[in-house]
Amino acid sequence: MTSARHRWGEPARFPHKTERTCLNGCGITKVGHHQVEDGFARHWTDFWRDGERIVCAATPPCDPFVASCVQIPATTSETS
Ligand SMILES: [Zn+2]
Repeated sequence: MTSARHRWGEPARFPHKTERTCLNGCGITKVGHHQVEDGFARHWTDFWRDGERIVCAATPPCDPFVASCVQIPATTSETS
């Protein structure tokens, strides 16, 4: 089974982030954040669907019928 790649649409630019929604209809929006903290520019990307952030180690698969990816519960305590 192959997972299609997302086809990101035109970016909607905001002062500190850029949102791009997938044109393939999977419902995922990729949000790129741009902030400066303590003089350091920080850039990171996360993914959203239905108003909820998708917690994922990598880009979620482009498939509207797949529950995005492994959802990590916020209550999980990390072991290191
Ligand atoms: Zn997609």
